[in-house]
Amino acid sequence: MSDLSAETDTFIAELDAAVEAHMDWTRRILRCAVLHATPSEDVLDPMAHTLCRFGAWFMKNRSHFEILDAPAARRIETVHQTMHDAIRSLCTHVMTGATGHSVDLDCFEQSQSELIGLLASFKTLFLSRAVRHDPLTGLPLRYSVENDFALYQKEARRNRTLLYVVMIDVDHFKPINDTYGHQVGDLVLRHVANTLKQGLRGDEPLYRYGGEEFLWLLKCKSAEEARKSARRVLASIGTTPVPIEDDETLRLTITMGLALAGEMEDLSSAIKRADMALYEGKQSGRNRYVIAEP
Ligand code: GH3
Ligand code: MG
Ligand code: MG
Repeated sequence: MSDLSAETDTFIAELDAAVEAHMDWTRRILRCAVLHATPSEDVLDPMAHTLCRFGAWFMKNRSHFEILDAPAARRIETVHQTMHDAIRSLCTHVMTGATGHSVDLDCFEQSQSELIGLLASFKTLFLSRAVRHDPLTGLPLRYSVENDFALYQKEARRNRTLLYVVMIDVDHFKPINDTYGHQVGDLVLRHVANTLKQGLRGDEPLYRYGGEEFLWLLKCKSAEEARKSARRVLASIGTTPVPIEDDETLRLTITMGLALAGEMEDLSSAIKRADMALYEGKQSGRNRYVIAEP
């Protein structure tokens, strides 16, 4: 199993366990209220929302939620605390023999229901993010290219900058699989993805397009800057050999086809031209970049 899908599986299992722990906490409170027993500290403590199992888990994993939807992550924290405050107020009254306030009960029920709803939406977000990413390399898959391309094309039109669609293909990759096996092939693909990613700016997306093919949306101000970026990426792959078994390392090269996207050009047309440039690069000896005709 890949790192990303293992990570997602673990995270979803932990999220389910945290929700289950919360439901168990609710059951314990109900028993205390009905049987007039004293609830535990994760009910009565003023910081109960940080002591309960769900609260502790959420604080530890908060960053995973924030990346996906920061306002909703903050809302989870607020609603969870509101729910604990309401139940503490309710229990404190009941323990003194008084009747609880219906306003507390309403508040508890509403916040609990909102909390469960928020967590269910996050679960959907986590899963849909996982299916949009390649489990082997962790890179986004091609599904999101279309949207990103439209956004960057608009941005380039507005700022009078350039957008290149770049197809990248590992040279002579099949012999690596044939000689060392598929697992080493996978390791090489992960290495290529990491090396490429490290060489790009944060806002330049890189996708795993197919087997050993990657697509890069290159934003720049001039054709010279595009050539410079392409040379830098070629050099980064060429100078970073892949460590494989028994202290052996593999030297790799890639070939790239670059197409300057027209202001109103479709992604499919730009990809086609980048692909043709890539083919030309392969035909003329590999380990190079070729810029497509407009
Ligand atoms: P060229 O220099 O012309 O690009 O030659 P190549 O050998 O790199 O190209 P070819 O298209 O013949 O081979 C691509 C290989 O990539 C064949 C396929 O089995 C392998 N491949 C595709 N996806 C994966 C993967 O996820 N893991 C591994 N290990 N191999 C893969
Ligand atoms: Mg290929
Ligand atoms: Mg190849």
